[in-house]
Amino acid sequence: MSLIPRFHVVLVAAGGGVRSGQTVPKQYCPLGGQPILRHSLNTFRQIPGLDSLITVINPEHSPLYEAAVKGFSLPSPIPGGKTRKESVFKGLEALPSADDRAIVLIHDAARPFVRQEDIMALVQTIADGAEAATLAHPVADTVLYALMREGDPFCGEPAQRTNLWAVQTPQAFRLGVIKKAHMESPAELEATDDAGLVRAMGVDVKLVQGSPLNLKITYPKDLAVAEEMYAAMSEIETRTGTGYDVHAFAETEDSPQSIRLCGVDIPFGRRLAGHSDADVGLHALTDAILGAIGGGDIGTHFPPSNPAFKGMDSAAFLKHASDLLKQKGGYLINADITMICEAPKIGPHRDAIVARIAEILAVPPDRINIKATTTEGLGFTGRREGIAAQAAVNVALPRGRPG
Ligand code: MG
Repeated sequence: MSLIPRFHVVLVAAGGGVRSGQTVPKQYCPLGGQPILRHSLNTFRQIPGLDSLITVINPEHSPLYEAAVKGFSLPSPIPGGKTRKESVFKGLEALPSADDRAIVLIHDAARPFVRQEDIMALVQTIADGAEAATLAHPVADTVLYALMREGDPFCGEPAQRTNLWAVQTPQAFRLGVIKKAHMESPAELEATDDAGLVRAMGVDVKLVQGSPLNLKITYPKDLAVAEEMYAAMSEIETRTGTGYDVHAFAETEDSPQSIRLCGVDIPFGRRLAGHSDADVGLHALTDAILGAIGGGDIGTHFPPSNPAFKGMDSAAFLKHASDLLKQKGGYLINADITMICEAPKIGPHRDAIVARIAEILAVPPDRINIKATTTEGLGFTGRREGIAAQAAVNVALPRGRPG
């Protein structure tokens, strides 16, 4: 069972940003009624594993910054430097961790649509062994160099489209790697981003495919597009799903050391009978998510008749249901699970269960609740013949694209 990797974030918001043609710098322009900076701050601050979040700003923008972060509990912002590169380095130096192996993400405040699951995938890429990684997405358009003739652009030579990717932020690094790249890069090296600096040092930077909707707001037209995207993304409907499951205790010759409940191995002298790992809690939760998206039930996706699922970790079932939800453009709002048993006691494992389910679903832990009840000695659970679980979820789906 892996733990959620810890990470730090440097959010770069020090740019003058007058290019967007607005009266205030672009990172403070409103999007959906909130300053652009607030959107990505809000996304990062809810991600499990976040250790610290340092925002680098132009001190002249302090009143705009204070208004943008109203109600958020954040460390004081760091004053930026003359260039983006300087600002990033100041942010890196302000991180409370001096550990070179710490994971740090650098993000441009002008990308308000970055998704939690893409951020978590990026963090995981570093945790899994990469020294550096960046969100990016393959370019589908034909890209070419424009020829300027008397001030007007004309088609020039096309760029080779094969393996052409558009680089985004956040970009993720081991702290020691990105600090070294900043300290050792020649002043005249004008890399446009931090991944470029690290690559110039000879370190491989892994591309992690993100969403093409992770738009960078640069020009006035971008703000208009962003408003339309925001409105479209806000058009959601909520759906509810429920799940219920029962597994009997297994008659075993051996003496089990633990029982798998809601993805966590709990010390207990009995185990449940079942084709998979018999995780009754995750089965109920998987069915609840499938129910909310009109996705049938766990048995239709993972028939017990299929020997491939024998002894399977039920986290895979839950992840599959979660992936189906995401494929529909939806996301989990909350999940509430009730375990019904006389034993084992669930309470002491509540935090571990919440953390594990949040990890599998890639959602903040405050969206997950686990509770337990006995049946006062009544019925099959009261007679300690098995364990029952029920789950309810709410999910958000884009309106007009349900089911
Ligand atoms: Mg089951």
